[in-house]
Amino acid sequence: MDSVGWEGDSVVQRYIARERDTHREPRVRITGLMMQYHEVCTRELWFFSRGVDIDRETSNIQRGTHIDETSYEGQRRSFSINGRIVLDMLDSGEVMEVKASSALEAPAKLQLLYYLWYLDEILDIERDGVLAYPAERKREPVELDADSREWVEESIRGVIQTVERDEPPELEKKPYCDSCLYQDICWV
Ligand code: SF4
Repeated sequence: MDSVGWEGDSVVQRYIARERDTHREPRVRITGLMMQYHEVCTRELWFFSRGVDIDRETSNIQRGTHIDETSYEGQRRSFSINGRIVLDMLDSGEVMEVKASSALEAPAKLQLLYYLWYLDEILDIERDGVLAYPAERKREPVELDADSREWVEESIRGVIQTVERDEPPELEKKPYCDSCLYQDICWV
């Protein structure tokens, strides 16, 4: 256990230091999906972080995966960086995130901003992003500015706080519960 705690403003600085050291396993490995879950529901994030396994064969997930895998084929390449994050890069150099629908716009945006933040903070690579909804023929440019950087860092603090809890966050009805993987655990 570290002698310096994870609380307070130093959390993000310590997270950056650990991510820059590729020989050390980070205490909390934050993926883009975890950032999404943090924005949607911290209880969902906690279940996910504990490896609570849910059947992934539901139609919504299959549809989302199919759209993600078949859209913009040939125009983007997937990268796994440091074994930490996986992202898609367009030939133009923009980072692209493809979603089935814009219904969960804020979580999708946070996920993409986290990738841009990671590239900038950990690898000193500045990139812009594009959020794409092929089924809706919509594309939105996403940039890492001061406000979005603060949003990402606040969310990193939130993710770490949530996954280090011994108990899941309190049950609270969310607009997303009906389509959530964990609804049977929460509401049976
Ligand atoms: S069912 Fe609702 S409360 Fe439970 S994890 Fe999902 S979104 Fe959160």
